[in-house]
Amino acid sequence: RVVVLGSSGYDLTIRLPRLPRPGETLLGGDLHRGPGGKGANAAVAARRAGAEVTFLTAFGDDDFGRMLIEHDRIEGLDLRFSKTVDASPNQVALIFVGDDGSNLIGVAPGASSALSPGDIDALPDEAFPAGGVLLACLEVPVPTVARGLARAKSGGMTTVLNPAPADLAILDGDLMRHVDYLTPNQEEAAALSGLPAMTVEQAVEAARALRDRGDCGVVVTLGALGCLVLGREWGQNLVPAPAVDAVDTVGAGDAFNGALAVALAESLPVLDAAVFATAAGSLAVTRPGAQGALATRAEIDRLLAR
Ligand code: ADP
Repeated sequence: RVVVLGSSGYDLTIRLPRLPRPGETLLGGDLHRGPGGKGANAAVAARRAGAEVTFLTAFGDDDFGRMLIEHDRIEGLDLRFSKTVDASPNQVALIFVGDDGSNLIGVAPGASSALSPGDIDALPDEAFPAGGVLLACLEVPVPTVARGLARAKSGGMTTVLNPAPADLAILDGDLMRHVDYLTPNQEEAAALSGLPAMTVEQAVEAARALRDRGDCGVVVTLGALGCLVLGREWGQNLVPAPAVDAVDTVGAGDAFNGALAVALAESLPVLDAAVFATAAGSLAVTRPGAQGALATRAEIDRLLAR
């Protein structure tokens, strides 16, 4: 079983000929809207990749929140331990996608910011099943993530932290002690380590620094290059991404993380789990949108068999 602790958002997306510069207005294509948020994207990614998924999240008390609950039920997510925050708007993201698939995103957190450590404390042990994998991301407050990771570890789970968006507060206190695998992208690896992570060589150094902060495995996603896996006790391995035509990279990292959690929950070694996750991430960039683009288990297996 995979348990995802994270945000549920609603995405409003406009495709533009290129990303706008500060102060600039560009005319683009039609407005696309649909479910998003790093937590929800990863939860749906994990579900499609073949796991039973429990989703710990906070919905807004508005039309967006109600639509998302309905959508998550159809996707087959277990929402027993999620909550709706009274009188709060849901999380919403405004997204611009350029012609080359690059993106620019602003998020109004809404209900996501109300998911508290107390909410984690109030959950029954059943929400943290031994032998399962907890995947957390940072669109919910860091103290809440810290509490979730600690409970997961004490319940006998494997933990994965996708430090997105990057927040240096995860390096305070004992949060990192409860992380088995940290999964930054290059920007996050640089922000958290204070080292550049533009090239693969630089990413290796940044990953080493992060591993030393937490004594955890580090998996740095490298976009079209794939990912870099640094074990707790061994050196780095580069997992190349399959060559695909990228049309929209929104949600690639979420797809990667959801699939990584599934493979770890199936007891694959982290390097094999990273191969599976890379395939899922690469499939996600071949289609527009966040959740609509997420691959099924059959599609991931087919790509890996090629
Ligand atoms: P994020 O979305 O968090 O910035 P990345 O861009 O590093 O994350 O992408 C996550 C994963 O998605 C990569 O490890 C890779 O598997 C896949 N991916 C992303 N961009 C591409 C691309 N242009 N071509 C192929 N795969 C990609």
